[in-house]
Amino acid sequence: MKIQHKVITILVSSFALMLVFLTIYGFLSDNQRIIHYNSIVESKKIIVKNVIQNQQGKYNQLVNDYSSWDGMVDFIKTPTKQWSASNLESMPAIYKVDYVWIYNPDLQPVFAKSITKLQCLDTLPIAKKQIPKLFKIGKNVHFFLKIGPNILEVFGGRVAGTKEYFHENTLTPRGYFFVAKWWDIPFIENLAITTDTDVEFDKSNKVSSHEIFADVKSDAHFVIRYPLLDENFKVVAVLKFENTLTTVARWGYYNQLTIITGFALLLLTIVLSISLINRWISYPMRRITKTLNTSDVSNISPILKRTDEFGKLSQLLVKHFEVQKQLYEEIDNHNKTQFALSEKEKSLSLLINNISDIVWTMDLNFVMSYVTPSVTQHFQYAPEEFVILKLEQLFIPKSVDEGVEFFTQMRDDLLKGKHHSNTGFQTELIIRCKDGKPLWVSVIAKPLFDDQANVTGIHGTMVNIDNYKKAIFAAAQAHQEVVNASAVKSDFMANMSHEIRTPLNGIIGMTELVLHTDLHDSQEIYVQNIKQSANVLHDIVTDILDFSKIEAGKLKLLNEQFELAEIVLLSLNVFSAKCELKKVELSCFIDPRLPKMVFGDPTRLKQVIMNILGNAIKFTDQGEIELRVTPLDKTYDPLHPQILFSIRDTGIGIPENKLHEIFDSFSQVDRSFSKKHEGTGLGLTISKKLVELMDGDIWVESKMEEGSIFKFKIPFLVSDSFEPAVFKQLEINRVVVFDNHQANIQTLQTYFDQLNINYQFFAECPISEKDMDQFKEAEVLFFNVQNHLLDYEDNLKSIRFFAQLGKKIVIIASPTIFFKIQKAVSVSKYPLFHLPKPYSFNVLYHLLEFVYSSKSLASTTIVLKKEQVVFPNKTVLVAEDNNVNFLIIKEMLKKMQVKVIGAINGMDAIDKLLKNDVDFIFMDIHMPDMDGVEATHVIRKMDDIEKQKVPIVALTADAMPGYKERCIEVGMDDYITKPYSQSTIINCLKKYLK
Ligand code: ADP
Repeated sequence: MKIQHKVITILVSSFALMLVFLTIYGFLSDNQRIIHYNSIVESKKIIVKNVIQNQQGKYNQLVNDYSSWDGMVDFIKTPTKQWSASNLESMPAIYKVDYVWIYNPDLQPVFAKSITKLQCLDTLPIAKKQIPKLFKIGKNVHFFLKIGPNILEVFGGRVAGTKEYFHENTLTPRGYFFVAKWWDIPFIENLAITTDTDVEFDKSNKVSSHEIFADVKSDAHFVIRYPLLDENFKVVAVLKFENTLTTVARWGYYNQLTIITGFALLLLTIVLSISLINRWISYPMRRITKTLNTSDVSNISPILKRTDEFGKLSQLLVKHFEVQKQLYEEIDNHNKTQFALSEKEKSLSLLINNISDIVWTMDLNFVMSYVTPSVTQHFQYAPEEFVILKLEQLFIPKSVDEGVEFFTQMRDDLLKGKHHSNTGFQTELIIRCKDGKPLWVSVIAKPLFDDQANVTGIHGTMVNIDNYKKAIFAAAQAHQEVVNASAVKSDFMANMSHEIRTPLNGIIGMTELVLHTDLHDSQEIYVQNIKQSANVLHDIVTDILDFSKIEAGKLKLLNEQFELAEIVLLSLNVFSAKCELKKVELSCFIDPRLPKMVFGDPTRLKQVIMNILGNAIKFTDQGEIELRVTPLDKTYDPLHPQILFSIRDTGIGIPENKLHEIFDSFSQVDRSFSKKHEGTGLGLTISKKLVELMDGDIWVESKMEEGSIFKFKIPFLVSDSFEPAVFKQLEINRVVVFDNHQANIQTLQTYFDQLNINYQFFAECPISEKDMDQFKEAEVLFFNVQNHLLDYEDNLKSIRFFAQLGKKIVIIASPTIFFKIQKAVSVSKYPLFHLPKPYSFNVLYHLLEFVYSSKSLASTTIVLKKEQVVFPNKTVLVAEDNNVNFLIIKEMLKKMQVKVIGAINGMDAIDKLLKNDVDFIFMDIHMPDMDGVEATHVIRKMDDIEKQKVPIVALTADAMPGYKERCIEVGMDDYITKPYSQSTIINCLKKYLK
């Protein structure tokens, strides 16, 4: 129901109730009117009461008036007829009393008047003596006397005068004043009839003599009783008037009923209205108000289902609060976002204000729109001053073109879409600060795009790199100085090297020459020692030179094809004699899977191997040294082989804490060793640097007293046309090897496996014939013979036995031992075959091939004779200013049956060349007047074509990088560094004097 309907309902119901009330009221009023009317009729009934009561009041008043009258006092004192005539005579008639009489204080009558013919005063049936007693009760007396059938009502008062009258206690009577009136029976009866009142004489005597009772029990009932006295004032009867006023009572009842009903209806109307108003209006309003105050929608849930406006209002409120809640949530989120944003903004502005780099934006016309405050810090410009600068004004004059071009190029590229969206453009420019000073900045610029990915501008950063640039310039300058210093040092090293090498060359060459002369034993030992020391010195000089070359970054590696095994064996061969001397077993294993030829710098590889091997031999007094060359790991790619070189020794080992140090320059584990074992502490440093230059790595594992393994790996390149070697199947069925050397056994096993040869290894060779018999079937017998071993004799015995049987015997031994054995055995169907240690797979293969193909003793002589190389009829011109050196080379050449012509400088060389028929020239570089380079230059430019073609090989102590190139550049054919060996010279001549 709608509220308006509810209000109408409340009003209507109130109205209806009021109507009911009015109807009832009307009805009751109507009744009242009737009752009122009836009561008027009844009222006469109460007249009796009123008559009596009025009369009593009137007579009381009369008595009071006269008793307190001063005139009365005077009259009693002096009774005058005049006064009585004027004041008393007419009084009974006026006041309608039957008697008036007055006594003086002595109860003597002063005045008496009767208007009835009945008794006079004297006959007043009251004994005078009773009178004072009567007034003890009060000022006035009022009583009824029963006199015969009549009743006399008497009123009396003590006369006192005005002053005394009201002071009752002090009252001394001045006299007594009485009035009396007769109640005759007919009057009473008449009164009873007219007032419809019951009158009766009650003789029960239950009342006191002086009282009149007007007893109104209720509005509807009254009783008036008068006691009746005899002359002795004893109550002899009671006159009783009694009446019932029914209509008056009914009127009262109806009156009450009307009021109660009206009040009840009013109450009902009010309660009903209040409850309805409360239920329909106040309650929902309270709920809604509470909801609005607290925003708690649970307050309106009781009225949600109402169909009135409050119901709808509350539903709306619920929705409103839901929306409000969402709104608040959104506001909350918004606030949070706002907060986060403002925090971000704060930190951003903090960042912007605090970053020292300069961030800027500009449009495509290079008009700047923003720059961070940091611009002031670097360029002194306020941001607003900086943004209005034109591009041309930004840079110092020297940098303007570059700066403008940078930005213009970038813009053009961007507009042509040449660059990816986020490509940054970077450059370094010199800004012109406000005070005119130049400042280097690194500029990184990036494009700005709009929503459609169109380029709209450029933004970027400028970083102050002034200090950095200055530092770079300073560093470059310093570097240049260092480079210069280094060049000076290199020159110094080169000179030093040259200066040291030249006399060294003399020493070595001369000792070599001396050694070729007839010397007695001690002399030979001395000279050998000189040569050895000179070689050590040479090694040291070479090491220092290499080191300084590497340090100066001047060491360039060759990249030429070479035979890996050859280089490895060459390195080993150098040490084989030394090992033999030290009685240390030297073995080598080169994995047959490795490519034969690789690209790299063979000299430097050899140097590394020799360095490490040299150390191994140096620090190993017993046991063995093994060099293994294998693929680095199982994932071996023969076209890109990573080759691992391991050099294992059983020497003194290296303490763990020194392992990382030994590759440092001039580092030696224990200096005392260096005294015992010569060395500079540079060998491993150089090796490490060389391996690293070859893109490899070097490391060591070692245990004190057990030995060390140095390993290095190098990635080699092989020729594109490389194909793994294929070996022909050898038809050798059974090979027996007597060997107790583990490393060698392993090597042989691998090689035999590779060649599919059956083999058997025996640690000891047979000595008794019986034992030897079992090997009669073997095709080839291998003996690994070491001079120092105790079983050398056993080996010899065994070899001799099998040799006599005509077996093919291979002796694995050093050349010295082999020749010794060969000499001892002497007779054999087949020659003894020599497998010199260390050997490679190829060497073994070719040996076996040779052994397999050899038929009998007579056919082959395996003993190798020392090669005698001679170049008869050849003339070699040697340009050398140093006499000693000239002597050395001259002696060497003479042995080769070469005709030697000497020249003391470049000029002399040219002169001798022109005058002689020269086949070859050795040209020293540093010579007085004209050096070797210039001389070569002149020779190569000569008119004489023949002379131009003469091979020229540099012979110099200048080992510094660049020299060889210089020599080749001017037209020399080759380059030999001093000191050189005879074999180097032979090889060289072999190459050029064919
Ligand atoms: P050096 O010329 O003194 O041999 P290296 O650089 O070649 O200089 O070697 C440095 C040091 O490393 C050596 O002095 C030695 O103490 C230690 N060392 C090198 N190789 C070995 C090895 N095989 N066994 C024990 N110590 C070695």
